[in-house]
Amino acid sequence: MSLADKDRIFTNLYGFQPWNLKSAQARGDWDQTKDLMSRGQDAIIEEIKASGLRGRGGAGFPTGLKWSFMPKEPRADRPSFLVINADESEPGSCKDREIIRHDPHKLIEGALIAGFAMRARAAYIYIRGEFIREAETLFAAVQEAYDAGLLGKNAAKSGYDFDVFVHRGAGAYICGEETAMIESLEGKKGQPRLKPPFPAGAGLYGCPTTVNNVESIAVVPTILRRGAPWFASFGRENNKGTKLFQISGHVERPCVVEEEMGITFRELIDKHCGGIRGGWDNLLAVIPGGSSVPLVPAAEIMDAPMDFDGLKAVGSGLGTAAAIVMDKSTDVVQAISRISYFYKHESCGQCTPCREGTGWMWRVMERLRTGDADISEIDTLFDVTKQVEGHTICALGDAAAWPIQGLIKHFRPEIERRIRENGGALEAAE
Ligand code: NAD
Ligand code: SF4
Repeated sequence: MSLADKDRIFTNLYGFQPWNLKSAQARGDWDQTKDLMSRGQDAIIEEIKASGLRGRGGAGFPTGLKWSFMPKEPRADRPSFLVINADESEPGSCKDREIIRHDPHKLIEGALIAGFAMRARAAYIYIRGEFIREAETLFAAVQEAYDAGLLGKNAAKSGYDFDVFVHRGAGAYICGEETAMIESLEGKKGQPRLKPPFPAGAGLYGCPTTVNNVESIAVVPTILRRGAPWFASFGRENNKGTKLFQISGHVERPCVVEEEMGITFRELIDKHCGGIRGGWDNLLAVIPGGSSVPLVPAAEIMDAPMDFDGLKAVGSGLGTAAAIVMDKSTDVVQAISRISYFYKHESCGQCTPCREGTGWMWRVMERLRTGDADISEIDTLFDVTKQVEGHTICALGDAAAWPIQGLIKHFRPEIERRIRENGGALEAAE
């Protein structure tokens, strides 16, 4: 199972050609966009549903279904909006950055078509504050599209008026959570809202809103041009299509690559990354979907299909498909402790289990790292992760809990060894 070059959607992922409109059009972007739109809004939504596309931002919610929640006849005083999540901040994730750097017109054309399909008046692209160069590219690409009549009044001669605004974030991870992003766009402090209501019911300025990831939107024009059956021919039931994988850590050649959903981890690494540093016997564990999903030990990840169900079956998740590879030189307790620090730092602080729990979990993780702990604290820590999980306003609480759960599940002997080598703490526990 592996993708042929002719089936890649992102043909300029490495920037071998310029990103500009002329080059993008030579690659097929903005080709007869008006004809794609003339199929009609409901037909486009049905086509995206039939393609099996699931959200590429991490949660995997079916994209066409999400669009179908938007009102078919928006009120004049309550317009609909599309918000595109370009606040890519998940540790390990770096795919949306590449799209914006090298293929921004796929995103802008996708914004017009998706916005039209859901009857939105405008799209807001919320781009991570640290993406300074990428934001410059995006501003310039949007301006090119306006200058060419592809956005604005009668966008792409479709008869539909559509605007695209680029909004820069200010460096908060939590603004990648869709309702925190909406708050931030409204000029408020970026803090998640309780759901429901979901954004389609009450989103930006209280209006119907759909929030989609950059990759989810950027693949839309190609799916419509090549057809839902083409996209659905990749992967397997419930896990369709092609996907951008990002591989970092202890491989010979870290990279971002588009591949077929369900490619095994082993094939992905051998084909695109030149193998594991020091060979496959040197692999310790992998966090397969960005830091919010549990790590998986070597023996279980090697032949796992890299898709939603394949990674769920090994106790983890596809998330953003950002595989963080750790070889046997890795201090895995330290690695997870560092991730815990990240979540503590990024917690917005509005709900108690997350505000208090992330700091508490990180402090215990640090003591487990140094071995300055009691063996019984491993179970206490696990219990606390279970009390945080599912008891917070947004998914950050879960994301802080899961990596620790994965560590305790798979590397408990290593944690105990540290405590034992530290002496007294173990004796005290016994
Ligand atoms: P979620 O499951 O709550 O929601 C996913 C999407 O589906 C949202 O747009 C939500 O509005 C919609 N949805 C879910 N249930 C719905 C319903 N009943 N009715 C209508 N709409 C519904 O997940 P989430 O909190 O949006 O995302 C969590 C994921 O984000 C994590 O799995 C993680 O992998 C990922 N993540 C990504 C990044 C990044 O940089 N790309 C950063 C942090 C987290
Ligand atoms: Fe804020 Fe954490 Fe609660 Fe999310 S879970 S709303 S980040 S305090």
